[in-house]
Amino acid sequence: TGTMMGSYAVAMIVAVLYTVYVHHVRQIDSKFAKEAKYDGLTGFKNWNAFRVEFETYFRRAREHTGLSIATIDIDKFKAINDQYGHLAGNRALISFANCIVQTQKQQGIACENYRTGGEEFTVIFPGMAVDQAQRYCDDWQNAIRQMTVHYGKEQIKMTISVGLTEVKSTDRTATHIFQRADQNLYQSKRQGRDRLTVG
Ligand code: GH3
Ligand code: MG
Ligand code: MG
Repeated sequence: TGTMMGSYAVAMIVAVLYTVYVHHVRQIDSKFAKEAKYDGLTGFKNWNAFRVEFETYFRRAREHTGLSIATIDIDKFKAINDQYGHLAGNRALISFANCIVQTQKQQGIACENYRTGGEEFTVIFPGMAVDQAQRYCDDWQNAIRQMTVHYGKEQIKMTISVGLTEVKSTDRTATHIFQRADQNLYQSKRQGRDRLTVG
């Protein structure tokens, strides 16, 4: 029976080690899955996640409720990099993201934030009409305008331009609504930046 107890103990140890190992591998898997979906700098979801999730929201919106999207671009961001350096630019991007999330928490809204380009972002408002979304975006624009980013001794100010639109019955693909939001964003740029265009 001494040998039997011995084999039993060995089997138990192997089982415990195996469980610990599987748990460890699962943690690594979910870490990779998270990294594949999120942007490491801002914590917003990345372009790939946007592509997949926007398609789903778009299909749902056409069948049921509605949907608004906003495209946001930081104004003259190249000048921030040139004046303060790339690392200061990175800090400004992080501060931008934190400011947006903080303001959204105060607003108590459920929306999805994506970093869809270097200093370009897209927000999806599931089930929300465009006039309501506009009020939220106005607040973000104010919050960013009022924020000062501290980087070493530097104090960096930023503004953002926004393009806003909602899904229409004539939108046949998700790309149509995204392109319209982008055109509205460029209208905001052309008209002098730090503004919102809706349509
Ligand atoms: P506009 O008002 O027309 O948008 O002007 P802009 O300078 O913001 O636009 P432009 O497209 O000329 O420059 C965008 C800059 O954003 C250039 C690029 O180096 C910078 N950028 C993109 N991604 C990052 C990043 O991750 N970190 C930093 N520091 N800069 C970035
Ligand atoms: Mg820009
Ligand atoms: Mg840009």
